[in-house]
Amino acid sequence: MAGELQRLAAEAAGCTRCRLYETRTQVVFGEGSPNAELMFVGEAPGYHEDKQGRPFVGPSGQLLNRLLAGIGLRREDVYICNVLKSRPPRNRDPQPDEIAACRYWLDAQVSLVDPKVVVTLGNFAAKTLLETTTGITRLRGRAYPFQGRVLLPTFHPAAALHASGRVGPSPLDGMEEDFRLLAKLLAEHGPAPAEPPAPQGGAPVAGSGSGPPGAGREVPPGEPPDSEQLGLF
Ligand code: URA
Repeated sequence: MAGELQRLAAEAAGCTRCRLYETRTQVVFGEGSPNAELMFVGEAPGYHEDKQGRPFVGPSGQLLNRLLAGIGLRREDVYICNVLKSRPPRNRDPQPDEIAACRYWLDAQVSLVDPKVVVTLGNFAAKTLLETTTGITRLRGRAYPFQGRVLLPTFHPAAALHASGRVGPSPLDGMEEDFRLLAKLLAEHGPAPAEPPAPQGGAPVAGSGSGPPGAGREVPPGEPPDSEQLGLF
């Protein structure tokens, strides 16, 4: 799907679906392996991302890289993008109409990359993809079914950096815990072992297919609780 993803990125580069095209430097579409088993979805490009045209290249990105390395992954192994592809002025919160306008690109990215596991970073991405008002503190720590895949919500790296040195529960500890769970999910839901080729002209061996989407995936039952927003964390 690399070609289609490139074509989509080229199309998105001129996007005027919402007002943010007036203030952005450039669209930050996303980057990484076009066949990644794991996709990260953040909130929106910040200052550095807007300048460089790449997601998570500032301090938040450096923390993300460290957390990835902690579970034996490199950036090139995964796909990274945001809910919004254009930076909101002064990093203000994404507006509902901007999220709705940008959803077209995110949905296309998810379906083209076709990851097994999606990790949302922070409140906006989790609430957008899980369609809930529940805050990230309540959502994180478990996986949810998402379009035949697995979705794991965790804190935004910026929240972990912001809270460092403060008293109280540490978002960074929470993220490290979530990344350990992520490693387990990838082991469970990662690529199936290669099957031997079917004999020529023969019927597929019974039970050798991969089954319907979501089959055999151990996702905890139930939907995210629908409750009040809990703020940043
Ligand atoms: N924060 C985000 O949500 N996304 C980025 O790409 C950078 C910082």
